[in-house]
Amino acid sequence: MTVERESMEVDVLFVGGGPANLAAALHLKRLISKHNEDIEAGKKQGEKFGDDFMVALIEKAQEIGLHGLSGAVMDKKTLLELFPDFDENCGAVDCKVDSEDVLFLTQTGKLKAPITPPPLDNHGFYTVSLAKLTKWMAEQVTEAGVDIFAGFPGVELLYDENKVTGVRTGDKGIDAEGNPKSNFEAGMDLLAKVVVLGEGPRGFLAKKLIEKFSLQKGRNPQTFVTGVKEVWQLAEGRLKPGQIIHTMGYPHDWKTYGGGFIYSMKDNMASVGLMTGLDARDPQVDPHRYFQMFKTHPVVKDLLAGGKILQYGAKTVPVGGWYSVPKMAVNGCVLVGDSAALFDPMRIKGIHLAMKSGMLAAEAIFEALVKKDFSEAQLGKYEQAVKSSYIKEEMWKSRNFHQGFHGGRVAGLVNAGLQFITGGRGLVDPMTTEEDYKATVTVAQYYGGKNPEEVNKISFDNALTLDKLTDVYQSGTIHEEKQPCHCKILNLDYCNKEENCKKKYNRSCVKFCPAFVYEEEVDEKTGKSKLKINFSNCLHCKTCDIKCPYANILWTPPEGGGGPKYSLV
Ligand code: SF4
Repeated sequence: MTVERESMEVDVLFVGGGPANLAAALHLKRLISKHNEDIEAGKKQGEKFGDDFMVALIEKAQEIGLHGLSGAVMDKKTLLELFPDFDENCGAVDCKVDSEDVLFLTQTGKLKAPITPPPLDNHGFYTVSLAKLTKWMAEQVTEAGVDIFAGFPGVELLYDENKVTGVRTGDKGIDAEGNPKSNFEAGMDLLAKVVVLGEGPRGFLAKKLIEKFSLQKGRNPQTFVTGVKEVWQLAEGRLKPGQIIHTMGYPHDWKTYGGGFIYSMKDNMASVGLMTGLDARDPQVDPHRYFQMFKTHPVVKDLLAGGKILQYGAKTVPVGGWYSVPKMAVNGCVLVGDSAALFDPMRIKGIHLAMKSGMLAAEAIFEALVKKDFSEAQLGKYEQAVKSSYIKEEMWKSRNFHQGFHGGRVAGLVNAGLQFITGGRGLVDPMTTEEDYKATVTVAQYYGGKNPEEVNKISFDNALTLDKLTDVYQSGTIHEEKQPCHCKILNLDYCNKEENCKKKYNRSCVKFCPAFVYEEEVDEKTGKSKLKINFSNCLHCKTCDIKCPYANILWTPPEGGGGPKYSLV
C-alpha cells in the first residue's frame, strides 16, 4: 500500500530511552546551553544555536522506563559525573551496597567465597531498578528541553546514499493482514543531522546498521546471556538493606555459562534473577526453567519463604566484551550503550558504561554541530574518545573473560584467574568466538538417546515457582492483538517440516523464549506439529533473534506502546 508520510526535521535524534541515550541527550543539551551562554558572555566566539534547535528522543514503550530492565548494581561514577549533586533519596536508586557474598551452589548446598573477588566488589554502589532510574532520568532530560516522544518505535533507517539521514517511526492501526484499520496513522520520517541508536541489546536498527556497513568486521561477533528476573516482596528481615549475593553453579551444569543474583531493594523488596549464556550447546536451553530451579535452591527458597512476587521480566545482555564492540560511527549515525555491546562481563556492569558512552557521543556530536560536519571522520571521534576513556580501560581487563568459559566452568574460572593476574590477557589473546546460535548442537548430540522433555521436566507450585504464562502476567506485557506478528519467521519450512527443527532441535524457541511466545501446536488427526506464535506475550528480550539455531527469527518492533510495563525490575 502507498502511504503518505509526514516528515519532521530535528537536529539530533535519539532512538531508545535507555540510560545511554538519556545521558547523551541531557549532556548534549547542557553543552549547547553552555556554548550559548559563553558566546553571550563574550567568553567564546562563534555562532549560537537558535531557539528552534531541536533534540528529540523516540522510545517504543508507552512511557520511558516501562521497557527498562536490568539486574542491577550500578557503579555510580558516571551518575555522579552527570549529576554532581545527585541526591540518593530522589527515588532513582535503591540501596547502597554494604554487604556482599559470593556463593558457589551445589544442588542443595553452598560454598561461600572467603573473600569477595575484586571484580565483584560493589561496596558503596547502588542497587537500582532500571525502570525507576530511567524514568527519573527522563524527567531531568525533559526539563533540559529535550522532546521525548514515547510510543514511537524506529522501524527503518533513512539514507542519502551512505549517510544516515533519519528514522521512520512505525505505522499504527494495521491489522494482522497488513491492511489499515479505522485508526490508521502513518509513521513519520524524522530527519536529523545525527541519529544516535541506543536501543539496548541487539537493537533492531543497530543490527541493520551493523550489517549494512559491516561494522562487526574484524571483531568478534556479539554474544549474549538472557537474564530472567523477578522482584519479590520479602517477609520481614530476610535480607538486610544493602545486602547483595552473587551465585554460580546450580542450576547450570558445568558447561553452561551464567550465574544468579539477589539484590536488596528499598521497602524490603529484592531483585532475584539468573543469567544464562546463549552460547549454550543445549538445543533445549531454557533460561526461565533454570530460573525456577534457582529459586528452589535452599539458599534462595529460604529467603523467599513468606514473600510474594511483584514483577517479572527478561532481557538479553551483551557479554562478548571489548573484542565484540562494533565500529561505532558512520556518516550521520552513532551506536551507544548495549547497542554497541558496551558491557563488562567480569564485573557484570553496563549501566555506567552506557551512560558514559552517551556522554562521549554527545561531546563528538556537539563538535560536529559546531563544525557542521556529520561525517564518519568527525563522528568517529566518539569512538576514539571511548578508547581513551575508562570504558575501554574497564572492558580491556575483561576482553577475554566470556570467551574463556567456552570450554566450561572449570576452564573459565582458570582463565578468569589468569586473565585477572595478566590484566585481561590470559594465555590466548585475543580469544575468538562464534555467534551464539552456531553453538547449538542437535538433540541427538546433546541428549544421546534420552528424551529431552523427560530430562528437563519441571513442575510449578504457583507460589515459589511459576510457569511462563503466569510469570508473563506479572510483567504487565500487552500488545494490540490485531496487528501483524512482530516476531517474523524468515522461512517457515525450517519450523514446520518435521525433518528440520522439530527433529533436530525439538523446537528450541519453545524453550528459550522466556514468555511462551513460541508454542508447538499438534494436529490431533495427523499427529503433525507446527509452530504457533503468541506474539502478544513478548517481553522484547530478543533471545529469539539471537538463539534460533537456523537464525530464522527476526524480531521487529511491534506497534508503538506495546510490550512489558516494568516499574520495579
Ligand atoms: Fe524474547 Fe523473542 Fe520471546 Fe519476545 S518472542 S519474549 S523477544 S524470545
